[in-house]
Amino acid sequence: MKYDYLIVGAGLFGAVFAQEATKKGKKCLVIDKRAHIAGNCYCEEIEGINVHKYGAHIFHTSNERVWNYVNQLASFNNYINSPIAIYKDELYNLPFNMNTFSKMWNIKTPAEAKAIIESQIEKLNIKEPKNLEEQALSLAGTDVYEKLIKGYTQKQWGRPCTELPAFIIKRLPFRFVYDNNYFNDRYQGIPIGGYTKIIEKMLVGSDVKTSTDYFEFSKENKDIADKVIYTGMIDEYFGYKLGPLEYRSVSFDTEVLEEENYQGNAVVNYTDYEVPYTRIIEHKHFEFGKQEKTVISKEYSTKWEVGMEPYYPVNNEENNNLFKAYKELGEKEEKVIFGGRLGNYKYYDMDKVIEAALELCENEL
Ligand code: FAD
Ligand code: UDP
Repeated sequence: MKYDYLIVGAGLFGAVFAQEATKKGKKCLVIDKRAHIAGNCYCEEIEGINVHKYGAHIFHTSNERVWNYVNQLASFNNYINSPIAIYKDELYNLPFNMNTFSKMWNIKTPAEAKAIIESQIEKLNIKEPKNLEEQALSLAGTDVYEKLIKGYTQKQWGRPCTELPAFIIKRLPFRFVYDNNYFNDRYQGIPIGGYTKIIEKMLVGSDVKTSTDYFEFSKENKDIADKVIYTGMIDEYFGYKLGPLEYRSVSFDTEVLEEENYQGNAVVNYTDYEVPYTRIIEHKHFEFGKQEKTVISKEYSTKWEVGMEPYYPVNNEENNNLFKAYKELGEKEEKVIFGGRLGNYKYYDMDKVIEAALELCENEL
């Protein structure tokens, strides 16, 4: 059998491409080295609860086209992500907003909060923030940085905030209203029934092989398709010949608990450095579950080494330059297109992955 496209990776990027290509009459073969489809969005049912196996996934976007696209495939519930932060014995609302400031300084009004933050910022005398620490300090002042950012970020990325790019912290809203919505986007929710069902629908009409690694498969199936859409790690594709790109991995410690409600919220971040995990996810709360038991996952951020799951690209200058060199190599591969979080080495959210895949479809199909 000869295909138009061999799609490496049954995650969101590969699945969007497969769906659009199939609509255009192209024959696609989708392979994934994991035993299942859906990439990092994969959900597994445990005790009647959709467990986000590779980390909590909350869909959010301001892109109407992307929102309409996913709503053709699933109904979304009205979940709004409002994480809690625990720092030692103190508890705060996230993202950084009036609820956080009011608890931290026992104040009520935006003017009071601004005055405290501004007096802290003034003392620091930071002109142009050069790294995450300076960015966070010049935005939120010393108390918020010390209690809610410093320890968490250091655990998450395995290095001090002075060695990280500022953009990572710009992901989070910072506002002087009483609003605990973690995202500023217009649309948000969790697909009813889980993400895996969406990907299943996208793959209708394509041939799918799981537990199939591209590097093994391609040895014996060199000419199986006219083109390859590759959503794995770009440095691995080239045998790490320019050196490995850096990633962060996460180890998930998932437990079933014999109680109905463990922490009262889907996401609780532990922001002091001494607690070894970054956050605890209680999966049932994403879907307002009423099951008798509950399932929680503790997330331990770890250094990535070859062979481990590469969850987060570390987009500092050094790695971005190395990626550029790999990208140039990629452009010389006439029959291969690199895409997705790993192929493009970008800290993409799901909506941005869909956007990028749809853009590729427009150019390619
Ligand atoms: P992936 O989902 O990683 O899919 C790539 C697939 O390629 C994988 O299944 C992999 O097994 C396969 N593959 C790789 N190499 C090979 C090979 N050699 N042969 C065969 N198959 C291969 N986004 C949000 O919008 N909201 C969130 O709340 C959110 N939370 C996240 C939490 C965590 C912990 C992480 C890591 C990410 C989160 N994201 C979130 C981002 C989201 O996961 C990604 O944007 C999206 O899943 C990327 O899709 P993808 O297809 O590019 O990659
Ligand atoms: N962050 C923080 N404290 C928190 C939550 C997040 O300092 O309680 C910082 C941290 O550097 C993290 C970044 O904000 O890497 C982005 O957080 P987000 O929750 O978007 O991370 P993700 O869900 O992608 O892991």
